[in-house]
Amino acid sequence: MKRTHYLKTIPLLAVLFFLSCSKDKQSNESDNQKDGPITLKSGVMVEKKGADYFWEGDIRLTKEQYKNLDLYGQLQSKKPDYVGAEKNAHPVYNVPFQNTAQGRTIPRAFSIYPTAYNLWAMVRIIYGSNLTLAEKQKVRSALLEMQSNTNVRFYNATCEPLVDPTYGFTYPNIEFWSTDGADVSESNLGRTGGVQRINLADFAFNSWDNSVIIHEICHALGLRHEHTRLDRNSFVTVNTSNLTSSGLAQFNIPSTNYYQTGTYDYTSVMGYSSYTSSTSIVHNTSLPMYTKTDGTDIYQGSFLSNSDRSWINYFYIPYMARTDVYAELAPTVYKSDNTIMTPSERLDFQAYLNNGNPTPPNCCTLANDLGKFTCP
Ligand SMILES: [Zn+2]
Repeated sequence: MKRTHYLKTIPLLAVLFFLSCSKDKQSNESDNQKDGPITLKSGVMVEKKGADYFWEGDIRLTKEQYKNLDLYGQLQSKKPDYVGAEKNAHPVYNVPFQNTAQGRTIPRAFSIYPTAYNLWAMVRIIYGSNLTLAEKQKVRSALLEMQSNTNVRFYNATCEPLVDPTYGFTYPNIEFWSTDGADVSESNLGRTGGVQRINLADFAFNSWDNSVIIHEICHALGLRHEHTRLDRNSFVTVNTSNLTSSGLAQFNIPSTNYYQTGTYDYTSVMGYSSYTSSTSIVHNTSLPMYTKTDGTDIYQGSFLSNSDRSWINYFYIPYMARTDVYAELAPTVYKSDNTIMTPSERLDFQAYLNNGNPTPPNCCTLANDLGKFTCP
């Protein structure tokens, strides 16, 4: 068994932070364009809203992603495609998937091409200052729902400095923000560096479930839209005659920077329902955007599906917040088949992550209260 991970962790994280903070915010020569749909040189359609550009409806583009979409029609210019075959090592932690403690089931999902640069360790979150108490509680319930079902862990950084005092970079953070009346929720795709905002519409807060908030968080974790899978035409029929040009752009199939395994998941929280009330997407709101190939309707999942969970459990590790570098795992660790590690499997895995030491030093657990909404 490899024992070098512990020593590699710190320099890798330092490099990640520097790389992520080097990407500046969206601003470019198109800022003087009007808000609305824009067709790029590559033919890809994006939508300008204020200083930001959005793709597939709710995915906010970084400056680099916008440039690549403009020039190449895809998010990244140089990353290799990746379909199906098992990778040799975990993209963030260099943990071999062959490690029996990690389980071997390959998730069925569609996501960004996963690398050390676009996934998260712990996800730092901030409750934005324009959220009401009830909205903060709704976001918290979505975070807790995800934590209880998967390996993702959120760290509440609402009252903490944004900038690293030693190195001067802005920590990667998700800031939850209310659009206060606008009807679209939005997120970046994967970890893009610095503060990346998740804008939430009123219906995200007012819904009986947490599906909209979870959908946008899943984008930030790396998951893409199920209905843009490369094999989707074998599973769904897109009603192109009812889609506007903006609607058609939401059903584009990517040619690079994707990770696809398994088959279509009709129950994914990352798929859309067949119908939308948005007349910018469809000509006739009583007709579907798309259906299953047998003509029946699709309903966006209200909860993470088993394959949504499996993708997160495959690519994320449930770390406890600590002040030292020991990698302490949460009491419940999921394998990628969504079963829970036995206590001995968990300790084996914890030892693996810590150069053979299964026991955390009894010094350094950090309080992490997702219910802390206001700062002293
Ligand atoms: Zn989306």
